[in-house]
Amino acid sequence: MRPQALIFLGAPGAGKGTQAREVSKHFSIPQISTGDMLREAVRSGTPLGLAAKVKMEAGELVPDEMVCGIVDERIGQPDCRNGFILDGFPRTIAQADCVGCTLEAKGRGNPLVIDIQVDEDLLLKRLTGRRTCSVCGEIYNVYFNPPRVEGVCDIDGGKLLQRADDSEETIRQRLVAYEEQTSPLIEYYRAKGLLHEVDGNRKPEVIAEELIEFLGTA
Ligand code: AMP
Repeated sequence: MRPQALIFLGAPGAGKGTQAREVSKHFSIPQISTGDMLREAVRSGTPLGLAAKVKMEAGELVPDEMVCGIVDERIGQPDCRNGFILDGFPRTIAQADCVGCTLEAKGRGNPLVIDIQVDEDLLLKRLTGRRTCSVCGEIYNVYFNPPRVEGVCDIDGGKLLQRADDSEETIRQRLVAYEEQTSPLIEYYRAKGLLHEVDGNRKPEVIAEELIEFLGTA
């Protein structure tokens, strides 16, 4: 894979994080998740975290200026030289314009956009069943990929937690935000000839294998 920016698009629960993790490991490029960065800011109680917390808990998007700033700063770091994965960013047309300008200004060329498409009933099961290890971040699902012992990570014995915004009410709001604000990005990138669509209704390992093969030639 040549050094380039990869953007992972998809509804909440589409498997962006899971696939980005595999691609990141395989090609040794960083996975940049705005959701993880915002959750970290919330945990540390920074001004950004305090401002983002209310929006995140309501399942709404955080204002564009906030996320564009942290992404701009992150992709300027040395470990992004050989490429990087934007996981969960951009999520609005304004964010896409913003990252497009940044990449151009840095001479990084066009991003390659991977859109992971998943049917809504499956999205709901993936979100309500999702559990994350509080130590290593490994992702499980109580329906499809349960840990050997309930509530405990297979890898390091860490406690498995449900994300605060994976409650049913917040999930509904996040899906609305996706439909209204993020799904127009599919056409936006398709029109620029940058979109690669992936059927995300299959097993994660099957998708990852296919994606890595595709990216190896991209
Ligand atoms: P995620 O982990 O990607 O599902 O993101 C969790 C939450 O963080 C979202 O529901 C938003 O509130 C916020 N968030 C993450 N990325 C963005 C973004 N690119 N733009 C606005 N809000 C975001």
